[in-house]
Amino acid sequence: MLEGLGFRAVFAIVLGMVGSTAMAEAAMVSGEAIKAHTAFLSDDLLEGREAGTRGYDIAAAYVATQFALYGLKPAGANTDFYQRVPLRRRSLQPDGVRFEIRTKDGTTHYQNGRDIAVDASPYTLAEDIEAEVVFAGWGIRAPGLRHDDYAGLNVKGKAVVILEGAPASFPGALRAHYSWIQQKERMAAQSGAIALLTLKSPEREQFSPWERARQARPLPALGWRDPAQAANRPTIKATITLGPQMARSLFAGAGRDIDEIYQQSTSSPPRGFKLPASMRLSRRSVHEDLSSPNVIGVLPGTDPKLKNEYVVIASHLDAWVGPKGNPDTIYNGAVDNAGGIAAMLEVARLLSIGGGGKRSVLFFATAAEEKGLLGADYFVAHPPIPLNEIVAAISVDGLMAFHDFAGIVALGAEHSTLGEISLAAARSIDAIHMPDPIPARGNLALSDQYPFLRAGIPVLFPNPARGNSREGGDDVAAWDDYESRHYHQPSDDMKLPLRWDVAQRWGQYMYAVVAGTANAPDRPRWYEADELAAVFAPAAERAKRP
Ligand SMILES: [Zn+2]
Repeated sequence: MLEGLGFRAVFAIVLGMVGSTAMAEAAMVSGEAIKAHTAFLSDDLLEGREAGTRGYDIAAAYVATQFALYGLKPAGANTDFYQRVPLRRRSLQPDGVRFEIRTKDGTTHYQNGRDIAVDASPYTLAEDIEAEVVFAGWGIRAPGLRHDDYAGLNVKGKAVVILEGAPASFPGALRAHYSWIQQKERMAAQSGAIALLTLKSPEREQFSPWERARQARPLPALGWRDPAQAANRPTIKATITLGPQMARSLFAGAGRDIDEIYQQSTSSPPRGFKLPASMRLSRRSVHEDLSSPNVIGVLPGTDPKLKNEYVVIASHLDAWVGPKGNPDTIYNGAVDNAGGIAAMLEVARLLSIGGGGKRSVLFFATAAEEKGLLGADYFVAHPPIPLNEIVAAISVDGLMAFHDFAGIVALGAEHSTLGEISLAAARSIDAIHMPDPIPARGNLALSDQYPFLRAGIPVLFPNPARGNSREGGDDVAAWDDYESRHYHQPSDDMKLPLRWDVAQRWGQYMYAVVAGTANAPDRPRWYEADELAAVFAPAAERAKRP
């Protein structure tokens, strides 16, 4: 099953060294190589690889150099490995936000970064928005799930207050899709609303804390520089996260108990209603235009027919950058996601020395993932090869190599035949598939596979499962320490207790998934009666569930 065996044989025959132990080792992913790539990309010299910075550009040049060394080719009509993504950095002017709520009792001012969290406008430099406020439940319109928070609610020209996330009753992957803030902005705009005010329920707070939003949202942000597109589709002028105190007083002013609404939302959809209040936002923004490249390399397929089908493996090259830490100010992003890029590079190296798979494989180091999947979104909107030639999109995001995992959480696996390929790959490294332990977090919409999924392409987003160490015991302390103290922090660096033998095993699994997809007799197909396929690929050919 494992294509690595086939490749190993080919490699050995080419060099005339069949049976050599050295050869068998050469045919494997190298933990040392993953370590070396991770160390370079997460070095302080690259200053966090934030999209639009010199550090990011150096990281991009590094990946492009590796692609060249492996003999990869530019994609489609591209003449080099770069797809330049035009971006706009938006910042608030000092004291550039004034926000107030007016009720019959008077006007209350709320401070950005303390009571509310809002970033600069992507569209205009100076604006004053005034609107009545309407509560609209989850702010979700999902006809396939018979859920419409906007039914019977007039929100034209209004500011809608909505709960972040989506009902627990939604199937996991669709819950992720409908939780995605850009999806909610689209639904609100289509309903005629002009601003979005979001609430964090206690459940949501667990994995998307207010404190993080409070610190991060007022910081400079990035988006596409594409005013024509913005002009052509309905957009929300402003999205504002409400702090817990502010939200409480807003609802109390309407005689409503917000805790009751949070509680109800776990069982039945909370009904929308008009709040006896209006909001006013005055905002002054600064725009700076720049560009940051996606790095794309293709290993052409060997089969004359199947080489026109592409397997995409995507991994984000930028790192999260937040407020300047003290004393460590650089967000190195070693685990998230220098390590993911490193694993992808090892897959590229191994596949290329084996001469490639039957299908073409497109290696995609994405720009500005941490800014809202901007690079992957741009690729799907401006694909260098026709989208219908892409048969699968596989993400590698994070290098959770803290203990010798026995399980793999392969998001997306239960929706298409990619799951069977992933299961075979997992078995090849003595691992099994395990269910998503935190479906409420909506991880399927939180990495670079998501724009491909929205385009109807079968996707896979695998990660090692926490706990269940193969070595016995329950060695999860380092894992938990990473999640709680180092994720998206300056301390995500090479000082973490990463195990490169585990990284090697993870890379070997990724290799087996990509090679398995590239060489499978049939392209990946969605399963019959699958709820994701029903939304994103209603006309696609289906396969029977195993
Ligand atoms: Zn990441």
